[in-house]
Amino acid sequence: MKILIQKFGGTSVATKERRAMVVQKVKSAKEQGFSPVVVVSAMGRKGDSYATDTLLSLINSDFKNSNLKAADMLLSCGEIISSVVMANDLYDNGIESCPLTGGQAGIITDNNFNDAEVLNVDTKNIISILKEGVVPVVTGFQGLTEDGYFTTLGRGASDFSASLLGVALKAEEIQIYTDVDGIMTADPRLVEEAYIIDKITYNEVFQFADQGAKVIHPRAVEMAMKGNIPLVIKNTMTDAKGTLIDNYGTGSSKKLFTGLTYMNNRIQVRFKSDDNRNNDNYYNILDILAENNISIDLINIFPNEQIFTIDEICIAKLKEIVEALNLNCTYSDRCTKVALIGNGIKGVPGVMAKIIKVLKNNNIEVLQTSDSHTTIWCLVHSSDAKKALNIIHDTFMVN
Ligand code: ADP
Ligand code: MG
Repeated sequence: MKILIQKFGGTSVATKERRAMVVQKVKSAKEQGFSPVVVVSAMGRKGDSYATDTLLSLINSDFKNSNLKAADMLLSCGEIISSVVMANDLYDNGIESCPLTGGQAGIITDNNFNDAEVLNVDTKNIISILKEGVVPVVTGFQGLTEDGYFTTLGRGASDFSASLLGVALKAEEIQIYTDVDGIMTADPRLVEEAYIIDKITYNEVFQFADQGAKVIHPRAVEMAMKGNIPLVIKNTMTDAKGTLIDNYGTGSSKKLFTGLTYMNNRIQVRFKSDDNRNNDNYYNILDILAENNISIDLINIFPNEQIFTIDEICIAKLKEIVEALNLNCTYSDRCTKVALIGNGIKGVPGVMAKIIKVLKNNNIEVLQTSDSHTTIWCLVHSSDAKKALNIIHDTFMVN
């Protein structure tokens, strides 16, 4: 049996017309001799009747936060509705199919409601359905605790469900269908010149997704990589080849960077030793933040100051700590972290200097930088982010 995972995102299953395209993709997989396993997200986006955010708005946030188990039961409904509706459309087109909840598909999780960890995937049920020539239509984003309660796996985790099943079923390929022709060199909403990347490594896409590109969930990439199953990002509405993600990527490409992405809502925090004389907490700031679960990045430590960035949502907590410990610091809010990603930068000298120069020549202030083997980060004012992305794209990514 050649198993193929086909995951369809919220916009792909939102309307009858779009679901007709989904049916075509499933039909064509069957004609090519594959046994498809379909994974679906909830239908549509916020505002659409059965979208996850719409369901979430039915309960108030106090209730949600103190009853995560109940909230997960509600959140699971979006995918359940979607899987039955999709199964109906397949049936209408002569494809026998069977909607399955995460639990019925064998996805067993711990009791960490809202962000559950998967403990085990028991493929027995799916395999027996496939052996009968029936297409399982599995709800993404959800699992079941060992004692039978619905759990969800974290925002955007339907991609992860697809990879999880792909690895457990040793699929030939995991196809993630969405509303763009593949992974692009930059977010097409901000960079008009962005173009499709044909091939890219797991590692690069992981960086891409982890650094803000919404096109695929980072855990989905990590899981597919563990199982060494090729991932392909495709458009539900077109026949474009899509982006192939595996261990090889473009191999011999001469390009320095594969793509760029960004993360908004960053706040730069700066502690100066002169402002914190005789306060020993100054030397333990990073530990104290870690103990308080405040995640920081772009960390630059100098003899006389410590600089890093945090997400806007952590600012209240940080201010509380700073006050309680009598520390002094300054904040620059409304920053955007731009990330340039590519295996090609390893060991190439002068790249950072070139980026800073081109931004400076265009009057863009670079607030901070950092780099790793595969990524270069620049912090800029959010008001400059779109311009910075376009200039960097023009400089390094011309096709
Ligand atoms: P789905 O509902 O199908 O899961 P998502 O909204 O999660 O779809 O992901 C697709 C969207 O990701 C695209 O519509 C696009 O706007 C956005 N996106 C951001 N960065 C990129 C990129 N580098 N390449 C392609 N799409 C991107
Ligand atoms: Mg998505």
